[in-house]
Amino acid sequence: MSSSQQPASNRLQGKVALITGGASGIGAAAAALFAHNGAKVIIADVQSELGHSVAEQITSTSLFPVAYVQCDVSKESDVENAVNGAVSSHGKLDIMFSNAGIMGQLAGMQISTADGQDLMRVFEVNVRGAFHCAKHAARVMIPEKSGVILFTASSVTTTFGNAPHAYTASKHAVVGLMKNLTVELGGYGIRVNSVSPDGVPTPMAMKAMGMDRKAVQELGSQRASLKGTMLDENDVAEAAMYLASEESKFVSGLNLVVDGGYNLKSA
Ligand code: NAD
Repeated sequence: MSSSQQPASNRLQGKVALITGGASGIGAAAAALFAHNGAKVIIADVQSELGHSVAEQITSTSLFPVAYVQCDVSKESDVENAVNGAVSSHGKLDIMFSNAGIMGQLAGMQISTADGQDLMRVFEVNVRGAFHCAKHAARVMIPEKSGVILFTASSVTTTFGNAPHAYTASKHAVVGLMKNLTVELGGYGIRVNSVSPDGVPTPMAMKAMGMDRKAVQELGSQRASLKGTMLDENDVAEAAMYLASEESKFVSGLNLVVDGGYNLKSA
């Protein structure tokens, strides 16, 4: 085994992780980090070419091959197939990272003129998608009496009004789902948490903010109370890995905010 194939640590050794939205941004960073820490990772995403290429790239530096599965989280059968595929390949699913999301329309989305179509589409992906992920993860985790379900929500759940209303509402719904499932699934040994980052310089954020990577990071840095460092997708992946690993074995129901203290500053 070459040194490039050594896991960075064994924090997720033996774990099987399905990561939605894993072809880009936070999901791709988590896929790499989880794989480098010994997990068997399946990337589920709508972007087939990118998903295959990211999976291949991570595989070249990991102990186990990273797989890609075509999956639109708003379609229940896609999520069901992705979960079934993970179980038939690896015998189980330990970690469901429900991370795929969309921002929706940005311009002209005042509530007084919105027709609700955008809100429905954002909810289809961000909320119904999260529901599908949780439902099918729970289906295979309940008999095992263990598992981790993790959602990506957003700092919009703790700060005020810096995103379109449909997106903000959808991420509050994700946190609500997380809290509800924490109680419902706790009896089966399944932990449920969410991670809520502020602006991360991913394609989604750069497009939404009309900024390049550096400008997104600088804005986040200005907003944060913490100075001297900037947020990137790897920081969110690290937070997700903590919640996915045994190190957080008594942590459930947490919305882990990764915003450098922005939420308290703006309270
Ligand atoms: P990104 O655009 O880099 O990645 C999102 C991924 O989700 C893409 O690969 C995309 O193809 C995939 N996706 C979109 N719709 C899908 C669907 N229906 N089914 C399956 N996959 C789908 O953006 P990102 O910033 O990495 O976003 C990841 C998550 O982080 C999202 O839930 C987003 O809302 C959340 N988030 C992002 C930020 C930020 O500033 N970037 C901040 C807070 C929360």
